[in-house]
Amino acid sequence: MYKKLGDDSHFSDKNIFIYFGINQTMKNPDSILSKNTLDKDDIIALLELDEKDSLKLFAKATEVKSKSVGKITYFRGLIEFSNHCSKNCLYCGIRAGNEHTHRYELDDESILYAAQFAYDRNYASIVLQSGEISSTRFIDRIDNLIKKIKELSDNKLGITLSVGEQSYETYKRWFDSGGHRYLLRVESSTPELYNRIHPQNAHHSFDVRMEALQNLKKIGYQTGTGVMIGLPWQTTEHLANDLLFFREFDVDMVGMGPFIEHSETPLYEYRNTLLPLKQRLHLAFKMIAILRIIMPDINIAAATALQAIDPMGREKAIRYGANVIMPNITPTTNRKNYQLYENKPCIDEGADDCVSCLEKRIEMAGDSIGYGKWGDSRHFYERMKNAGIFTSEAE
Ligand code: SAH
Ligand code: SF4
Repeated sequence: MYKKLGDDSHFSDKNIFIYFGINQTMKNPDSILSKNTLDKDDIIALLELDEKDSLKLFAKATEVKSKSVGKITYFRGLIEFSNHCSKNCLYCGIRAGNEHTHRYELDDESILYAAQFAYDRNYASIVLQSGEISSTRFIDRIDNLIKKIKELSDNKLGITLSVGEQSYETYKRWFDSGGHRYLLRVESSTPELYNRIHPQNAHHSFDVRMEALQNLKKIGYQTGTGVMIGLPWQTTEHLANDLLFFREFDVDMVGMGPFIEHSETPLYEYRNTLLPLKQRLHLAFKMIAILRIIMPDINIAAATALQAIDPMGREKAIRYGANVIMPNITPTTNRKNYQLYENKPCIDEGADDCVSCLEKRIEMAGDSIGYGKWGDSRHFYERMKNAGIFTSEAE
């Protein structure tokens, strides 16, 4: 028997699909979940569990999370400070080629205001995210903002950066100024699939993405990556390879969520081949749960895209293994313009509205909120300890 993710009936080029066999004897999750180490076949079998059987997987992930990182969710206030982008990723609503996007850039005052908001709310960390720009002006500006945010928070606010591929020197400069975590999704760890969802040119190179991830690690960032789940042409084998890639690369943090088609992007053409949204969401939950089991001490973010499909999507992810949520604290007037995908949640609400309901929902999911704590990846500390770099524990 063979299985793939979407429906390929709309494709003329059927060779692009990688089919794979499913070992029927592996369908019982209990025997797989009792193993110490999961191999690729195990992971594929878990990814293909139906809703009923996946409850066992989720229960195991909840247990592993509770023992390894505890039942605590950490907040990172997300500031989407600009949607200008030099890239043209085929899936993304704010790609350079989308002429319908109204471009914006927050001024320093608004960014610092949002950072102050996070600090006052005891979030302990923020994420600065934008499209990918590599001009000197942009690099200097980020550097200056990092320093100012450190200043306004008496060095206490943790800063995660997520502004795409940059040179080693730029990453180093921002690190030296106080950025200490970086999120750069690999999008897909399979080069052929990566190439299918990006334009074919040097500005969208898989090798450059890998090199950037290596550089971040070398410099000393807590390094985060991730993938989109439910992409056109994607199989469960690709996704299993993604999980194995995270383990092999020894990442500290992962943020991954469902791919959501955007009508103003080239990949929209393939919308009829995708898994239905609910199944994409379920697959994303399984990815998170398996990742928690194979990498118990990393930080896993419940991506905002989960919430675009299910209002409780992020909280369910928290129950199934994630331990980080990034409440959007971008000033509301600009939120509607930062549409990576459509149906993006909370675009009309103020930061306050989002947070008060989030708190209750996280408690319902069984976690408390790690207010005032950086909630750094324990995995990172283990990695540093093993390298003899430092000995203190994660806070
Ligand atoms: N420009 C930076 C950060 C902003 S994009 C970067 O690319 O790293 C952040 C993430 O949004 C991307 O890594 C991608 O995985 C996700 N994204 C973009 N378009 C999406 C879509 N249509 N559906 C789901 N996630 C999407
Ligand atoms: Fe730009 Fe990031 Fe969107 Fe790619 S995913 S187009 S780099 S904002």
